[in-house]
Amino acid sequence: MTVWKNVPILMYHAVEETAHPRPYKHLHVTRTEFEWQMRSLKKRGYNPVTFDTLLAAYAGIVALPAKPIVLTFDDGYEDLLKNAVPVLTEVGFPYTVFLVSNLIGKTNEWVASEGLTPFPLLSWPQIREIQATGLASFQPHTQSHPHLADIPLAGATTQMAVSRDVLQQQLGVAMDVFCYPFGSVNPAVAESAREIGYRCAVTTQFGRARQTDDPMLLPRVSIYHIPPFSLDYGPAGLNYWWRIETRKDTRK
Ligand SMILES: [Zn+2]
Repeated sequence: MTVWKNVPILMYHAVEETAHPRPYKHLHVTRTEFEWQMRSLKKRGYNPVTFDTLLAAYAGIVALPAKPIVLTFDDGYEDLLKNAVPVLTEVGFPYTVFLVSNLIGKTNEWVASEGLTPFPLLSWPQIREIQATGLASFQPHTQSHPHLADIPLAGATTQMAVSRDVLQQQLGVAMDVFCYPFGSVNPAVAESAREIGYRCAVTTQFGRARQTDDPMLLPRVSIYHIPPFSLDYGPAGLNYWWRIETRKDTRK
């Protein structure tokens, strides 16, 4: 008999040495914040699980551990290697990194249209170095990071299929978890992702994954830089636990 628990799937982006100004807020946490967050999860008894375990629990095949949580990193920023991988290895947490297959070793150039300076993305050798730690699962996040719901469906399907083929070939592992850039998805895109063989996919809707959720539309809990004492958010540490433990859900 397995008992489902609603699972927060944390969404991180870059982990930076120092904080960036406000327009970059949603794109990063600092290394200090991140180390505190990972060690605190460990201390509080959270058990990060892989998407494989999550899906097996959905199917009732395995029981989730106490305080299950999933860690995800979008876009594959280069600074993960220096600022995130060491503490993740120290605490022994599994995690998933979503990569943009045409931009490996380049930058998140899609932010330039918003007037932001792009950050460097992981190169193939850096990805293989992280892969060698045995804790990371790399999964596709399209070829070029478009809004999939706003382009023709055939193009969206190509973005989802070809990025997976390229990454699988380069990294020598099967991939079946997808991440919609900007959380841009509609029923046709989600159905196409399912048809081409993805077992689940994550959005940017805020909420914890429930057993009744469509696996192609799993919500996440976004984590981004908050100054230690922010007028908007209150103490950063309390805000972190609020995000993980709240029942807030932005889905309709
Ligand atoms: Zn992204």
